[in-house]
Amino acid sequence: MNVLVINCGSSSLKYQLIESESEEVLAKGLCERIGLDGHLKHTPGDKEPVELEEPLPDHMKAVEMVLKLLTDPEHGVITSLDEIDAIGHRVVHGGEWFAASTLINEEVIQAITNCCDLAPLHNPANLIGIDACRKLMPEVPMAAVFDTAFHQTMPEEAFLYGIPYEYYRRYRIRKYGFHGTSHRYVAIRTAELLKKDPGHFNAVICHLGNGASICAVQNGRSVDTSMGLTPLDGLVMGTRCGTIDPAVIEYIAQKEDKSLTQVMELLNKKSGVEGVSGVSSDFRDLEAAINKGNPQAKLALDQFCYRAAQYIGAYASAMSHVDAIVFTAGIGENNGTARAGICARLKYLGLELDDTLNQERSVEIRISTKQSRIPVWVVPTNEELAIARETVELVKK
Ligand code: AMP
Repeated sequence: MNVLVINCGSSSLKYQLIESESEEVLAKGLCERIGLDGHLKHTPGDKEPVELEEPLPDHMKAVEMVLKLLTDPEHGVITSLDEIDAIGHRVVHGGEWFAASTLINEEVIQAITNCCDLAPLHNPANLIGIDACRKLMPEVPMAAVFDTAFHQTMPEEAFLYGIPYEYYRRYRIRKYGFHGTSHRYVAIRTAELLKKDPGHFNAVICHLGNGASICAVQNGRSVDTSMGLTPLDGLVMGTRCGTIDPAVIEYIAQKEDKSLTQVMELLNKKSGVEGVSGVSSDFRDLEAAINKGNPQAKLALDQFCYRAAQYIGAYASAMSHVDAIVFTAGIGENNGTARAGICARLKYLGLELDDTLNQERSVEIRISTKQSRIPVWVVPTNEELAIARETVELVKK
């Protein structure tokens, strides 16, 4: 079965066409600057990538271009659109409606629309992608795979905020968590690598990318995670502040004469590693600055590691035992310095990294020594493959 995986952002669209039996990526690509001048990079299988500067006024045009390229005689990988058997859409917020992926129908679209309030930057873009695909390929079954769904198993004591309960009742204000597709994929894959039953597997999964979150997985289910109502909570991230005293918001607003919206923008886009280091949100730039002796860059890295270690410690203590601690996503898969900085703060858990193995990047590997009380692994995430698998499962049902 050929599954087209679509991940729509507000001005971008990522796609992969995956053959589900072999799990081969037939083609992949990225449309950027949608609504502006438009830029498209398409990589057909093992052929050379093609880059096009093509006006992409909206997502409909972007989807049209993607379908045209997939079937193009020169750059395509299929001869007609009939060879696309299903489409899997990444949807960021499913609120409390969705504890699992689902086939898309009118009712599902309405529920995703109802969640736009909770993810105003993401859900509307996801809906535009769904709408464009439905118009261009009305007969093809489509699934929605939610970032929040995996975390719907969190118990109330973990997901509730300490605010009047009526706000949960009235507005569903609670912790939802994100990166669920990645946490679930990595948890299952690590269980396989450790030859454990995924349903009886406990782990702390650290998805450390520009956006970053940690998840406590107990018996294969999410029981707590560091992101909250929105992806702003938890770890110190590339440009997001993570957990702070909420009183800081009012204080900055008063001192700097800023509106609430301006302060929230500051906390989302100008804070975190970028805000503290004054260098960059990218860990490669951060490491380069540290190597040149920049103390602010070092402070930002230390703070990132300290906060991550705090969450790992908290989640490890909330579970009866931990089978593995796992690093994934851009930083988790590639940055040995950050992994070492985090694990060095967790010696009391008996963690011990092997310095040579910890140099490895983007491969499935145990990076702890044999003596480490808890094994530490790097397991690259693959959200597109996870979406394709879930789509196939739903369509076959
Ligand atoms: P993500 O959001 O998962 O794409 O992760 C972005 C972060 O991962 C950035 O801070 C990058 O510095 C880091 N990253 C991504 N790829 C690499 C790499 N090959 N080497 C080092 N860091 C990387």
